[in-house]
Amino acid sequence: MKIAIPKETRADETRVAAVPETVKKFLKLGAEVTVQAGAGASASIPDAAFEDAGATIAKTYAATLKGADVVLKVLAPTEAEVKSLAKGQKLFAIMAPYGDPEIMQACADKGVDAFAMEFMPRISRAQSMDVLSSQSNLAGYKAVIEAANSYGKAMPQMMTAAGTVAPAKVFVMGVGVAGLQAIATARRLGAIVTATDVRPATEEQVASLGAKFIAVKNEEFEQAQTSGGYAKEMSDDYKRQQADLVAGHIAKQDIVITTALIPGRKAPELVSADMVASMKPGSVLVDLAIEQGGNVAGAKLGETVTTDNGVSIIGYPNMAGRLAADASALFARNHYNFLAQFFGEEGFAFDPEDELVKGIQLTGGGAVIHPNFAEKEA
Ligand code: NAD
Repeated sequence: MKIAIPKETRADETRVAAVPETVKKFLKLGAEVTVQAGAGASASIPDAAFEDAGATIAKTYAATLKGADVVLKVLAPTEAEVKSLAKGQKLFAIMAPYGDPEIMQACADKGVDAFAMEFMPRISRAQSMDVLSSQSNLAGYKAVIEAANSYGKAMPQMMTAAGTVAPAKVFVMGVGVAGLQAIATARRLGAIVTATDVRPATEEQVASLGAKFIAVKNEEFEQAQTSGGYAKEMSDDYKRQQADLVAGHIAKQDIVITTALIPGRKAPELVSADMVASMKPGSVLVDLAIEQGGNVAGAKLGETVTTDNGVSIIGYPNMAGRLAADASALFARNHYNFLAQFFGEEGFAFDPEDELVKGIQLTGGGAVIHPNFAEKEA
């Protein structure tokens, strides 16, 4: 079985889908691995490290893919890159089919079996294969570091001979994987942390990290979690009540980290322009939902916006990619953990009926087959 690791080419992508450790593990299972030259450079992994691990280095994208059974990527291929894929190849990546259905269709047309790693079912067995979790965790950490860097004051309280430095007040909106890590990181830096979410289960998690939970706790809040563990889209009435509650709180915060997402939909706007205007000069917001439309009014993808009242809104895409080495290592292990379960004594035996495979397979047999999209096509 041949595995190809091409270099990522999309803008701002620094990660790579394999690291020397996972290459070695794949070789142990009997696979061969070809890595495109320079694929690990932006994650501080030289070609020589991949070669030492037993990979073959190929000069070009096309040469890397030649003869491969499985192609591992971080992000979906571009339209041009799909053209170099061969019929029957299996492609695993964050495919983003809601935002980019054309690439999914192009894979189907090419006869490529494309699998969206971000659709991995959230069951215990799949935890070690969950790219959303592994990357969100790093993004939550890095969001706080970026905020601390832009903030012109210190995070912890400091008692000095020249007087006391007050601790920063940090508010985390959305307490999923990223939000929990943001809370933990801000606490470690000594900030006073509050957090909000629409899922009741998060209240205890927030408290266990030493932060204070704030939310509109009505009947809708009690029902806000889907069976898959995700948030539901809230009613306009709930959003209004939530905004009223948050408005007074935000005006007193120094740093706000937003992470709120609804799977398959645009991110909810949680911080209005008026709320941003109510904040003190020097305050910093980091919008981790920016790639899904953003939680903060005025946030711009890829930019740090400074408002008239001196508030910075950071809208960096791919926050995990700003920790390229760790993000690649975790992403690579997610890929490995998923594929390793199909290696047995007879070699690689992929099981299309496996519950995880069914959850993530977008295309097969020349068509879009994932139930979320195939029905819409009919
Ligand atoms: P996510 O990235 O989809 O969303 C981030 C957070 O935003 C969520 O907590 C969500 O409730 C919150 N949110 C949505 N709308 C909001 C609003 N209007 N106001 C405030 N907050 C809002 O979430 P996630 O990080 O993927 O985590 C979702 C859940 O899944 C968590 O409980 C997590 O622990 C769980 N999980 C389970 C597994 C597994 O079992 N394999 C793996 C990963 C995550």
